[in-house]
Amino acid sequence: MLSGLFSRSAAQAAEPYRLLQASVEFRNAGKSWGSNQVLRAINFTIAPGEVVAILGPSGSGKSTLIRLINQLETLSEGDILIDNRPTRQLRGAALRQLRSRIGFVFQQFNLYAHLSALQNITLALKTVHRLSEADATARARALLARVGLAEKADHYPSQLSGGQQQRVAIARALASDPQIILFDEPTSALDPETIGEVLQVMKQLAHSGITMVVVTHEMQFAREIADRVVFIDGGEILEIATPQTFFTRPEHERARRFLNKVL
Ligand code: ADP
Ligand code: MG
Repeated sequence: MLSGLFSRSAAQAAEPYRLLQASVEFRNAGKSWGSNQVLRAINFTIAPGEVVAILGPSGSGKSTLIRLINQLETLSEGDILIDNRPTRQLRGAALRQLRSRIGFVFQQFNLYAHLSALQNITLALKTVHRLSEADATARARALLARVGLAEKADHYPSQLSGGQQQRVAIARALASDPQIILFDEPTSALDPETIGEVLQVMKQLAHSGITMVVVTHEMQFAREIADRVVFIDGGEILEIATPQTFFTRPEHERARRFLNKVL
């Protein structure tokens, strides 16, 4: 496991927020911007190690839903319990610690353009996790190898394809040894020919025991790797089901319409 690469002191520094189970429970969670309520009465629990695909039309609240998990957005109502601990009130160091245990992969990669692939990964290891240069570099190289990019360590983002940049972003998200990883449409900005290599890395990850929440339009991928599918429309969860059930016998009329459009 990757955690073996962490120095003992770094592991201890993260101890207060070691996520032993990495469950995520939405408890009557809601989000509004001004008078615009974009998520309402969200109630569901993601089990430790579960892979959940969030599906739904554009503007339905998918990004907001996963951004709430690590408080890239703040809740308006309810709470989100991680490892059975309420997180809404967390601030400062406690919040930073929790966030450092949750990886996030964005549609647009969000790599630092002026840093090499390797440096994009070592940065947080050195500044947040206080690893030495040598330890951070060794860990970053192991992560790049894991996503099939050992040879690209010294390349800058502009010298990498979209798929390669996204794999660097995944390696970076894994650097802090998170027990939860969130993906927001990780392949939507990619050329069709590089989508497969990113999905391949995500598939391996899905089998690694990490808790994974993926907003995606890749229906085949969701069908193959998700333990459960959450269908959201108009800021509400309309259906939670296994992929088998959702893709063959969706209960909700809006889910049927959605599937007719995207399949
Ligand atoms: P999705 O990811 O499913 O496309 P989003 O979660 O991005 O949907 O958006 C849901 C709704 O919230 C949309 O109506 C969007 O316009 C609104 N919204 C998202 N982010 C903001 C923001 N920062 N300020 C105001 N409204 C926002
Ligand atoms: Mg979105």
